[in-house]
Amino acid sequence: MDDLSENRDFIRDIVRADLDAGRVSSVVTRFPPEPNGYLHIGHAKSICLNFGIAKEFGGRCHLRFDDTNPSKEEQEYIDAIQADVRWLGFDWGTHLHHASDYFDQTYAWAEQLIEKGLAYVDDLTADQMREYRGTLTEPGRNSPHRDRSAAENLDLFRRMRAGEFPDGAKVLRAKIDMAAGNINLRDPALYRIQHAPHPRTGTRWCIYPTYDFAHGQSDAIEGITHSICTLEFEDHRPLYDWFIANLPVPSKPHQYEFARLNLTGVVLSKRHLIELVNSGKVDGWNDPRMPTISGLRRRGVPAAAIRAFCEAIGVSKANSTVETGYFDHFVREHLNRYSLRRMAVLKPLKLIIENYPGGQSEEMEAVNNPEDAAAGSRKVPFSRELWIEQDDFMETPVKGFFRLSPGVEVRLRYAYFVKCTGVEKDAAGAITAVRCTYDPATHGGDAPDKRKVKATLHWVSANHASEAEVRLYDYETVEASPEIVEHAYLEPALAATAPGETVQFERLGYFCRDNTGRATNALSFHRTIGLRDTWAKVKAKS
Ligand code: ATP
Ligand code: MG
Repeated sequence: MDDLSENRDFIRDIVRADLDAGRVSSVVTRFPPEPNGYLHIGHAKSICLNFGIAKEFGGRCHLRFDDTNPSKEEQEYIDAIQADVRWLGFDWGTHLHHASDYFDQTYAWAEQLIEKGLAYVDDLTADQMREYRGTLTEPGRNSPHRDRSAAENLDLFRRMRAGEFPDGAKVLRAKIDMAAGNINLRDPALYRIQHAPHPRTGTRWCIYPTYDFAHGQSDAIEGITHSICTLEFEDHRPLYDWFIANLPVPSKPHQYEFARLNLTGVVLSKRHLIELVNSGKVDGWNDPRMPTISGLRRRGVPAAAIRAFCEAIGVSKANSTVETGYFDHFVREHLNRYSLRRMAVLKPLKLIIENYPGGQSEEMEAVNNPEDAAAGSRKVPFSRELWIEQDDFMETPVKGFFRLSPGVEVRLRYAYFVKCTGVEKDAAGAITAVRCTYDPATHGGDAPDKRKVKATLHWVSANHASEAEVRLYDYETVEASPEIVEHAYLEPALAATAPGETVQFERLGYFCRDNTGRATNALSFHRTIGLRDTWAKVKAKS
């Protein structure tokens, strides 16, 4: 078990108290996605909570698909959800379940409610039903079909199942109270007709239980001890409890609600994300700009950073919105610790070292990760012609610009001090190259006479560079096209970066090698996140 004292929230308190008092002998939780889209970062909060609690308290967590609405559900989503939960680092063992596994039982329970006079078949249209339901301030009215006999209801329900009626013609409803203050108790729908094939049960059924009628009973069948869900289901709890009280279920789960994750500037709703995908504004569910788990993975965000974030935000009953910068902070923190450092030039400017012989080159020793000695070092080739960033040179430096300009000496990281002697220009007056001399005594990047320079630049040897396409995504406006750098120059070691691996381009940010294999360019990276951690600064100030 992990250190429990570190993980304190009201749900864990309840779990601990239930175990201590012997109300439950072993904790069983579940993560219950509806397979109608890909998972997003909000779902990660629920996954970390449910699987985390099971792990910490020595219990188990099920993955259960709430697959009750075949018109919106697809096998692609079922597969993607499993891949995402696994990637996040969680394992449901043998406990992969589906609400559809219980369709026979759910149907039998519906018949039992009919026999007890607690459910009836209604012929009202969806519009009429809405009209009869009343409002928050006005009670609803009874449907004219509410007092059908149990025998008639049973006959109609069986004929619904047999496929005698078209979609929407009839609905099985619970008979509770049309005047209830809680609208969820005003005779909610239990079964709807839907002539649609189901990803798992095929055409065996043409009636499907509603989410509300399947969810709590699925928990009861699986022996879930703590049914954890988000606050919007708080008002549904009395209904779930009514089903549990009126059906011969094998166990009585308790539901606890927590606040969903909201992030500033990010829309976490499957419906919205589906629109982005369908409109073609993004390159699928795993577009690096998407707040989906698969989008974050493709973007280069490590699973461990998502877990650390979910742990840090904690769990409460009060709705709130978390700064997206706070999430970014965990991404940077993880990448800073674990990613390899490499040199890449995105906006290249030629640097010619006048006193370095052409045709000569040497290998400089470069540290792979200053945060991790075990990551070792690599050799970076150095030669007479290098690429540096255009932004690192100014012919006429403005006040406060300490990088390269005529007469100024700077350090080339891991290599030498160089001093600018002038520039080369084309006929139009644009700078085509910067010229300099190097000091051989500064090999490795330090001067024996201890003289200082005010800047250290990254660079790439022109003759040894690999060319790459680099995409600079703006994660704040999902629909904006990325800025594409078509001819970036990379140090040779970057050609060996594995697809999907994220490295730090020194001084530029963290970049992930794309694994989609764009045909035009074998080497393609995109920015996972910049280096600047504004959240850490804000925190330091306060
Ligand atoms: P969305 O609102 O994005 O369409 P959903 O709630 O319909 O999502 P489900 O598949 O029903 O998606 O969600 C599975 C589980 O994840 C549910 O228990 C739900 O409460 C939880 N969940 C969904 N969104 C969030 C969120 N933003 N923060 C925390 N948990 C969430
Ligand atoms: Mg839902």
